[in-house]
Amino acid sequence: MTQSIFDKFQYYANLREDVARLDTNPFNVVVEQVLSETEAIVNGRRTILAGTNNYLGLTFDPRCIAAGRKALEEEGTGTTGSRMANGTYAGHLALERELADFFGLPSSIVFSTGYIANLGILSTIPGPSDVVLLDADSHASIYDGCRLGSAEVIRFRHNDPGDLDKRLKRLGTKAESALIVVEGIYSMIGDQAPLQEIVEVKRRHGAYLLVDEAHSLGVLGEHGRGLVEQAGVQEDVDFIVGTFSKSLGAIGGFCVSKWKELENVRYAMRPYIFTASSSPSIIASTRVALHILREQGAELRKRLWDNAHRLYLGLRELDFKLGPESSPVVAITLGESKEQALEIWHDLLDKGVYVNLVMPPASPGAGCLLRCSLSSAHSAVQIDAIIDAFRSLRNNILES
Ligand code: PMP
Repeated sequence: MTQSIFDKFQYYANLREDVARLDTNPFNVVVEQVLSETEAIVNGRRTILAGTNNYLGLTFDPRCIAAGRKALEEEGTGTTGSRMANGTYAGHLALERELADFFGLPSSIVFSTGYIANLGILSTIPGPSDVVLLDADSHASIYDGCRLGSAEVIRFRHNDPGDLDKRLKRLGTKAESALIVVEGIYSMIGDQAPLQEIVEVKRRHGAYLLVDEAHSLGVLGEHGRGLVEQAGVQEDVDFIVGTFSKSLGAIGGFCVSKWKELENVRYAMRPYIFTASSSPSIIASTRVALHILREQGAELRKRLWDNAHRLYLGLRELDFKLGPESSPVVAITLGESKEQALEIWHDLLDKGVYVNLVMPPASPGAGCLLRCSLSSAHSAVQIDAIIDAFRSLRNNILES
């Protein structure tokens, strides 16, 4: 039989067949009309969006929109160039200064996405003689950054500082230049890293630590700086990576650091150099969103956490298998049957609730996940409607 270059995608061909039985493909949902931060028309029906990462509900903030519109009119639709060539506008530098100021750190670099931020930092800072120790549940961008780089990569058990300690011990003196990578809130299950314990291990071995606060910026900490702030360990953290695509309601990424030397790395990072910089309108709306986070973040955070507790407790009462703690990311673990997971996901959509369907290998275990993520813009009525939709499918979920 002749070989096709597409033979290796048979798994996805089978998945497409499964999905074709449904009238909506969960991996190709079309938002036909956006109605608000929390609602859209999907499949011709008004649907509650319970799977976005719009944590502070800023996507429709009139101040962000006005700033974006002004920049669009005054600076055009795109920079059409890399940060290193003609793509650094005054706004990019201002946002870098504002991020550094927000975190109280000297160094800051803005990237075109959070994915690219991880690619840039992790492929460049740890070199061929260094080791990166990754939490096993790390986001794809963290794994991909390491793959693009040349350091040795070692995984440690998810949220297990003892396992991290053991692996660092085995490295001997190499532990002193090793880079540990964890996330503030893990994107799939919504659990937090045990950061104080991880810092204690890091200190003992003299290693470096990077925390990806993609899901925790604006969500954790007295000022919304993330888990690093909440855990009170800022002095022990070497790099914080984050995104503009979640609590700041736009698109883009950043890295801030206590190390002034970060500036020397800027022009060595291929994912920084070889892609176009963010559009001026994106930078402008992000700057305003960061300002709102500083001024009104506490109020938005309170609403977000009220919603998170309401959903978590409501779903726990239904005996679903949830993550270990209440969080703006609430995931229900189903069984391993992809067909059943697809059906349940589809039934939820039929009832007017969109959540993320996550299947292995994207889910951390062997089971499929129904991942909900909340916004401060959700009302209590919407949260109750989400719980009601899950309640009506309780038996199917428990039996899956
Ligand atoms: N890190 C983590 C932990 C994430 O969950 C994500 C996005 N899901 C990213 C990085 C990448 O962010 P962006 O959407 O800005 O590329």
